[in-house]
Amino acid sequence: MIPAPHRLRLDSGALIANWRTLDAMSGGAACGAAVKADGYGVGAHQVVRHLAETGCRDFFVATWREALALADAEVAVSVLHGVRDEDMAPALASRSARPVLNSVQQVRRWRDGGGGACDVMVDTGMNRLGIRPEDVAAGLLDGLRVETLMSHLASADEDVAFNAVQRDTLAGLRGRCAARRISLANSAGIGLGPDYAFDLTRPGIALYGGVVSPAFAGRIAQVVTPQAQILQRRLVPAGQGVGYNLTWTATADTEVAILNLGYADGYLRCFSGKGLACSADGIALPVIGRVSMDLTAIDVAAAPDLAEGDWVSIAYDLPAMSAVSGLSQYELITGLGPRFDRIWA
Ligand SMILES: *Cc1c(COP(=O)(O)O)cnc(C)c1O
Repeated sequence: MIPAPHRLRLDSGALIANWRTLDAMSGGAACGAAVKADGYGVGAHQVVRHLAETGCRDFFVATWREALALADAEVAVSVLHGVRDEDMAPALASRSARPVLNSVQQVRRWRDGGGGACDVMVDTGMNRLGIRPEDVAAGLLDGLRVETLMSHLASADEDVAFNAVQRDTLAGLRGRCAARRISLANSAGIGLGPDYAFDLTRPGIALYGGVVSPAFAGRIAQVVTPQAQILQRRLVPAGQGVGYNLTWTATADTEVAILNLGYADGYLRCFSGKGLACSADGIALPVIGRVSMDLTAIDVAAAPDLAEGDWVSIAYDLPAMSAVSGLSQYELITGLGPRFDRIWA
């Protein structure tokens, strides 16, 4: 296959270092990895390979399609959305993946179908997925082989009293069902401190460079750097505009490069006039005018040697780009599209 004119540089060293940091911050608890949505867009297979080699033993996906795509990795995978009727056959046949049962119906479906080991989600107040704590206490799970009893924090990225309410509700279920482990914290939940770690943590975004807790400042490394090739370099005479609606006007004759990158790749229109590219020599090259579907213009006056076919890196530090765009770090990373080559280094 011919190489794409844009690629994601993926730093396996940073991914591994982030997992080790989160593992250490998880104290005595095991540290897993959320690899749903194809590893937040960076590629679940490679993430699983790198982290399994590093010692990670628990992986989380959303759907059975995602779990089956990882079957050859031979790692333990929990399927967060549980089991539908149409998932039962592959779920019962799987040797490495198990459902996270979320509702009374799912519990019945799994039990009636003769399912083996499973995880269970308890709703401790987010009102998204999960069975009620009262149902656990009343014995709904009796006879099931529950590996991990888990819950999910509604506001882990905020310092609010409700975090402790959820933690204490989950802690109150210890001993009320025969689960081998209890799990609560996502990335930001790890940042809340050791009493949120229980037996197993489930970070996602922080593995991939997201800084979603003050506790992560300076400790989480950037994993993903988009890069794009220059399609054309041109001189824009003073007074002329660039791009759709000519939203940028040259105040002096300006050297401009057009990049093979646009909002169809997840480089969104909100970066118009706000984004930053960077030459191989580290020279900053501002995004000018409107980002189009497949093209983005940058000012290359500071880089006289950059030419058609050369590559530039695109600034994509997740917390910084979130501040610039108003988008969440999750949307930014999962929005990077399928057209990129994904190159691990
Ligand atoms: C996605 C997800 C995670 C990981 O969350 P991050 O905020 O990305 O760390 C953990 N647990 C559950 C239930 C999830 O859905």
